[in-house]
Amino acid sequence: MAPLFKSIKFRLTLWYVGSLTLIVVFFSIGLYFSLKGGFEKNIQVALEAVAQEAKRDIMEERSNVDDRTIEKDEFPIKSVYVQVMKISSAGTVKIVAKSGTIKNMILPLTAADIKKAGSKKSFFKTLDNESLYPHPLKTIFLPVFVNPRKRYIVLAAASLEKSEDALDDVLDTLFTLDPILIILAFAGGWLLINKTLSPVKKMVLSVQEITAEDLSRRIEYVGGKDEIGELAKTFNNMIARLEKSFERIKRFSADVSHELKTPITAMRGTAEVVLRKARKKSEYEDAFRSVLEEAEKIQTITDNMLFLSKTDGRKIEKNFREISLDDILLEVFEEMQPAAEKKNVRLILKELSPVSVKGNESFIKRLFANLINNAVKYTGKGGKAEISLEKKNGFAKFSVKDTGVGIPEKEIPYIFDRFYRVDKARDRAGGGSGLGLSIAKRITEIHGGRIEVKSKPGKGSAFTVFLPAFY
Ligand code: ADP
Repeated sequence: MAPLFKSIKFRLTLWYVGSLTLIVVFFSIGLYFSLKGGFEKNIQVALEAVAQEAKRDIMEERSNVDDRTIEKDEFPIKSVYVQVMKISSAGTVKIVAKSGTIKNMILPLTAADIKKAGSKKSFFKTLDNESLYPHPLKTIFLPVFVNPRKRYIVLAAASLEKSEDALDDVLDTLFTLDPILIILAFAGGWLLINKTLSPVKKMVLSVQEITAEDLSRRIEYVGGKDEIGELAKTFNNMIARLEKSFERIKRFSADVSHELKTPITAMRGTAEVVLRKARKKSEYEDAFRSVLEEAEKIQTITDNMLFLSKTDGRKIEKNFREISLDDILLEVFEEMQPAAEKKNVRLILKELSPVSVKGNESFIKRLFANLINNAVKYTGKGGKAEISLEKKNGFAKFSVKDTGVGIPEKEIPYIFDRFYRVDKARDRAGGGSGLGLSIAKRITEIHGGRIEVKSKPGKGSAFTVFLPAFY
């Protein structure tokens, strides 16, 4: 089992909770600052309105503004304090009016503020001198210029207490809600991921139970057609393929030993019998002949096997050259004629078109010989085997059609397997090693072609090979 912190479950949860935490934190920060900005904007708008009203008063009552007292009720926003200050040409400041609510309070005006007000533009400032006011104040400084001798600054201020309280409340809520949200998300995510991945855990256990000796087992997956179901299906298909190839390997090893055992037993038997007593020269000669025959059989088997293992998955194409199939076929045809005549099977060359492929001459010879040899071997007396070579759709099409014993349909998928014989006893007695078609198929594949079979028991068989034509 993988360590917890390395498991997908853990990493997925971590990613999920990590990204959710980031989202929540960013959202909270965003919310806090947008609220803060909104509150400030509201206060500034209110301050601006109040200050402008005071300015209008100063402008309208130009003559006696010095004596004017701004009444608290004149201001729609009660929590806004207003202080009107006259700036003398010498730069001294005199408070000429202030709203009732701050009768006992004086808002400070610094030299820098007076200088800044000289630009005749209003500006905002936050005053947060804790010793003077318990809560920071938002202030607007609005310069009013009547004439060079009559310069005023309207200072309106509002406490940030309410907005600070509201923001503190928001912060409190976020600090409580965010961790709860994250813990809930973590728990929910963990449960969900656990549930999603639990079939994988089950699959791991099932796969662990599958061994090379018992490939018949399959992974059980009851979930739907989701990705994990797909994985289970893929696994099962792979195990099925493995099972098949394991079976083939097993059968192959058994077959090899069996194939070699028969001639070796025969050789041993012959030798033992001959050695039992003194024999005549002709008897020794017979015995050696029979031993030689068996040795030839063994040699054929080993040669064929060597061929198959040498050509297994190897790139042989580099030795390929352009070869003319019609010449090779003619040669093989003539070589096979005596054997066919001996069996009283008519070997007919029905068509021989010139066609070339890129390939290995001795391999192609072997391919033709194996297929023609089979046609003769599995066709009874008086039968015939028709051979043809033509060019079709960019392929060289070679076919051998016989009127022999044929192959039962259910056997056809296996005839290209090594050592596979339809009629075990008869075919072996006929001298077949059971490797001829495996070799034919391998050669065809090496040349990028394919082989097809059509057969009917009692009627005959047709083997067709397609090889990519060179011209
Ligand atoms: P073998 O050396 O036994 O002929 P092959 O690999 O060439 O081995 O063929 C496999 C089996 O396929 C044969 O044993 C035979 O039963 C069957 N077979 C091959 N060619 C023919 C054919 N032309 N007609 C009938 N059966 C055939």
